[in-house]
Amino acid sequence: MLMKLGWAFLNDHEPWAKFLRAKFLNKEGLLTQYYKNSSVWTGLKEAIVTVKAHSKWIIGSGKDIDFWRDCWGSDTAIYGLLEIPDDIWKHCTAKLSQIIHHNTWSAPPEVVELLGCLGIDLNGIILNSSDKDIRVWKHCPHGLFSIHSAFQHTSSHAPKVWWYPFTNSKVILPRIASFTWRICHNSLATEDFLIKRGLHITSRCSLCRCNLENMQHLFWNCPQSTEIWDWIASLFQLQAGFTNLKTTLESCKQLSSYLSDIWKAAVLNIVYLIWIARNAFVFEGFSHSINDIKRRSLVAIKDAAGLSCNNMANNCLELSIEVKINCGAVAIGATGKAGVGVTARNHLGDVLGLLTKGLDSVSHCWKVANFSAFQAAKMGVSLPVGNLETFLRRPHFLTKIEEPNVCYFRFT
Ligand SMILES: [Zn+2]
Repeated sequence: MLMKLGWAFLNDHEPWAKFLRAKFLNKEGLLTQYYKNSSVWTGLKEAIVTVKAHSKWIIGSGKDIDFWRDCWGSDTAIYGLLEIPDDIWKHCTAKLSQIIHHNTWSAPPEVVELLGCLGIDLNGIILNSSDKDIRVWKHCPHGLFSIHSAFQHTSSHAPKVWWYPFTNSKVILPRIASFTWRICHNSLATEDFLIKRGLHITSRCSLCRCNLENMQHLFWNCPQSTEIWDWIASLFQLQAGFTNLKTTLESCKQLSSYLSDIWKAAVLNIVYLIWIARNAFVFEGFSHSINDIKRRSLVAIKDAAGLSCNNMANNCLELSIEVKINCGAVAIGATGKAGVGVTARNHLGDVLGLLTKGLDSVSHCWKVANFSAFQAAKMGVSLPVGNLETFLRRPHFLTKIEEPNVCYFRFT
């Protein structure tokens, strides 16, 4: 609650906030360091420092931003990056507006060099088109302070285990979270574990059938699992070669919060699906194909995308991960046999995959204007009822697809 008061102290325009700022800030806008007779100030002062450390700025004129003590160019204020005695700091009172002129950076070369040494590249920081400086809370996509996120990011009750932030998410279903808990506690009944417990069995990996089964092999070293990891890494344009759950989950750090959500859902669901495939073979003798696991992973990713409340970055890398889905259906004759078709294409228009299915007779006849979906649906008409075929990449019969940035007209 003190942090909420601290956020309001820094940002509110209510009379009480203006009064407190006038009383407790000096003329340079810094917190007073000497004693002030107040019942709340001692606690509030500490909360304000914490709020500042967890805030960033959308920079306008820079008049409200402390060059040294505010986080404006990186996650840490320059104050925290330099080791300078306190008696020198008190003379460092520059505002960021001193290196901004007419809405563009105008820092002297020495300042640019200093900032470069601290990892701050001014050319990479975009200035707000208005003159207004806006303080944003780092941990919420909308930039507004919330007690919930403040508690999560500053409380000493923060989780002590590395996997908790990955499983405690809206996009992770409870059964996937509890399965992850079992993996992280080494409590899966893999065959090496059963042998250690005294069972006399012959161990064989259910996926490749030529190695002993243990968790490391099944999830990370098995050629079948590796193929799935390489596939998902290429979809997200990440470096493949994963060897354990922790580094795999953490490899999404450079992605937006939205894609991080999807990545963690993809990783945890793939691990779960590998285990399901292993169990199907061990207990039922049924063998799942790699394509089957990939297809079910994509369904899980689609569901996670629907559950995520976060935003994606509007850049080429992230947009290229999003896929356009075209779908359509076609029937032969007014009450003839029908088929449906779906094509998935990326931002460049390349066909990533295609699905087609034969349907029974339908009472309405309609076609789609989308060429690729139409061709896929036509293919479905020739399939026996209920049969479904999937293709990775562009199949040979898909001769016509819409080109990006071209207008198409439909004549009836
Ligand atoms: Zn294997």
